[in-house]
Amino acid sequence: MSILVVGSIAYDSVETPFGKRDNALGGSTLYFSSAASLFAPVHVVGVIGDDFNPADIDFLKQRRVNFDGMVEAAGKTFRWGGVYHKNMNMRDTLFTDLNVFETFDPVLPDHYKSLDYLFLANIDPDLQLKVLDQMHKPKAVILDTMNFWISGKKESLTRVIQRTDILIINDEELIEYTGTENFLEGLRHITALGPKVVVIKRGMYGAVLYNAGRFFFAPAYPLPEVKDPTGAGDTFAGGFIGYLAEQDNLDEITLRRALVYGSTTASFTVEQFSMDRLKEIGRFEVDNRWNEFKEMMQF
Ligand code: AMP
Repeated sequence: MSILVVGSIAYDSVETPFGKRDNALGGSTLYFSSAASLFAPVHVVGVIGDDFNPADIDFLKQRRVNFDGMVEAAGKTFRWGGVYHKNMNMRDTLFTDLNVFETFDPVLPDHYKSLDYLFLANIDPDLQLKVLDQMHKPKAVILDTMNFWISGKKESLTRVIQRTDILIINDEELIEYTGTENFLEGLRHITALGPKVVVIKRGMYGAVLYNAGRFFFAPAYPLPEVKDPTGAGDTFAGGFIGYLAEQDNLDEITLRRALVYGSTTASFTVEQFSMDRLKEIGRFEVDNRWNEFKEMMQF
């Protein structure tokens, strides 16, 4: 089954204890696509500026990523800058320049409208709603967001959550959105709005799946060195949704396996800056690491 994704296409400036990169390829859509395309065809909705170098996405075109829904606008591509603390679970955003996203009005090509899996990646919730409104009847709507939109556009974000089947959120964002530190209470708050399934990302501590009262915990892959955590969340979503779309199934066991695929693809992302590591890997490497996870989680 195919996936439609709307989110940011970016150039990022990132500093971690291991180095610094300016204007590196980034954005929730591209990170997501580089992981999800290892499992299923991906269709992109987004906007780039006239400073975007098309060769930067050649590697995605060579996988199964379709860019018919990506438009070019006059102006600069979205830019984000961040700096990571020594504890790389923590980062500060230095700047978020929406640029061409400020006036972007997404129009889906006809062949996108009946795709089965819709991923609303991290971007302005009003844009997520515009895409959602154009879709016929996706089998699953999956949503990701960020503190920037929780504090800046909570009402619109709530309208998106109400139409979401699976919410992916990190632990801090869950607290910020629901206003409670107790994660059971936070989950009750979210599921009362609509989503039946919630995935809570916990950075270097892994992820939790909540599905209609049942819990499943996946660790993060123990890595000797994390160079740049940027995009870990988006590539987690890529492995998770990619596997669901490939299997075309949303039952409990498939969701659990998908969660571990999410942890697996995220673990590759953080080994190098930008999408450098993701460009090198294929399904073989992913499956090998997924099998290591299986071994780690048996007792
Ligand atoms: P992650 O590390 O998974 O949270 O994703 C980081 C990516 O999200 C970077 O490549 C940024 O370009 C992108 N990003 C950062 N802030 C925003 C925002 N407010 N809206 C959309 N994308 C963003």
